[in-house]
Amino acid sequence: DSSEATAEPEPEPAEVPVLTRHWGEPQSWTLPNYLRHNGYRGLRTALGMAPDEVIELVKASGLRGRGGAGFPVGMKWSFIPQSDDPHAPPHYLVVNADESEPGTCKDMPLMLADPHSLVEGAIIAAYAIRARHAFIYLRGEVVGVLQRLRAAVDEAYAAGYLGENILGSGVDVELLVHAGAGAYICGEETALLDSLEGRRGQPRLRPPFPAVAGLYASPTVVNNVESIASVPAILRNGIDWFRAMGTEKSPGFTLYSLSGHVRNPGQYEAPLGITLRELLTRAGGVRPGHTLKFWTPGGSSTPMFTAGHLDVPLDYEGVGAAGSMLGTKALQIFDETTCVVRAVLRWTRFYAHESCGKCTPCREGTYWLVQQLRRIESGQLTEPEIVAALDVLADVTDGVVGKSFCALGDGAGSPITSSLAHFRDEYLAHARTGHGPGGCPLDPAAA
Ligand code: NAD
Ligand code: SF4
Repeated sequence: DSSEATAEPEPEPAEVPVLTRHWGEPQSWTLPNYLRHNGYRGLRTALGMAPDEVIELVKASGLRGRGGAGFPVGMKWSFIPQSDDPHAPPHYLVVNADESEPGTCKDMPLMLADPHSLVEGAIIAAYAIRARHAFIYLRGEVVGVLQRLRAAVDEAYAAGYLGENILGSGVDVELLVHAGAGAYICGEETALLDSLEGRRGQPRLRPPFPAVAGLYASPTVVNNVESIASVPAILRNGIDWFRAMGTEKSPGFTLYSLSGHVRNPGQYEAPLGITLRELLTRAGGVRPGHTLKFWTPGGSSTPMFTAGHLDVPLDYEGVGAAGSMLGTKALQIFDETTCVVRAVLRWTRFYAHESCGKCTPCREGTYWLVQQLRRIESGQLTEPEIVAALDVLADVTDGVVGKSFCALGDGAGSPITSSLAHFRDEYLAHARTGHGPGGCPLDPAAA
């Protein structure tokens, strides 16, 4: 059956899972399956409202951006001029599906298992901000996701949810899926826009933010996949339903990605504010016979936590108060066998490789951070050189963080400053011996 259910739907419980509820079903990604579960009802609700009313509803829900920064979604939409002036520049919606932060792996499974929640959310968002054209910018390597997304978009066009006069409403929305070429920096929203316009992806100066001058210098909303895919359920169920989950300032449900030394890695949907201790219980704990050493709350760009942070509420306020950032909610778990120096070296090499080269502090600084970490990791320094090397490492990090053109430079410094704060003694021991804890799975040759 490929038609929408006509009977009044059962009220949905204000509990997780929401985003992941139907992921395990056969052919979960197809339109018929999506329609069986109230699919595109949120769009019908939205089309029955004025665009401004949709924006107000999303604003009042308190939904915050799930790409990492947590900026309020409805507020971002409200920055777009609401004029119907035919001579005003067009508005655009761009969905950031470039997901590249180390450890971050929530948007890809979402698009594979339930692409229509993203497509429906994108149509609602485009309607709300009066955009006729919407784009999904996907990282280029994920060919399977690209095919599935394009198939979902084709299904939506064929069923009248996209194109001209959608569902007879008089509203036109075109949605294009664009594959990038695989560069971390193209997940930075302004570099993404440059890339989408056909140029080399490098960050632009902000302000102006994309809401003022984005794609083709026109007002543009750039939102993360999970943010947009969360919108249909809010339209279907309302503000109180959404706010019944999560915390007052970080309401709703979200995806936490557990990876590394955990018994059952994967996506765990939970209300915002859950702790790692609770998530680890659901995930079967740290791998048997081992103990937690350090972890990232939101990918490698967020300062690392230790076993002492197991009870930090994983919402924007809780993680911030504990000295890190919620970021992408990519919880990478490392047990006591992990050499923190080698882990940090691996991450830093990633940032140096992905630095776009536009600004000197990041382009030169990340190179020198790698060199300095390699010296420490090698175990070939004399005692006075060891102390000097740690000072130089901290000094170069200071020259990158807060002085770079975009967030990549700040992110590159996070693993270094946080690991030095928690594990300075291990740095010293490693520099003296050239070894971390026994059994470290990171291959020294790779460093
Ligand atoms: P940001 O806080 O500068 O901006 C967040 C969003 O709010 C942007 O869309 C921005 O345009 C908008 N915004 C902020 N202030 C505004 C204003 N005054 N007017 C209009 N719009 C405004 O954060 P950012 O630099 O865009 O992103 C950093 C985040 O990205 C980090 O938290 C990091 O966790 C995350 N990140 C995610 C990935 C991933 O793979 N998902 C990769 C790297 C980094
Ligand atoms: Fe490019 Fe790095 Fe500068 Fe960002 S901080 S603009 S990635 S060189």
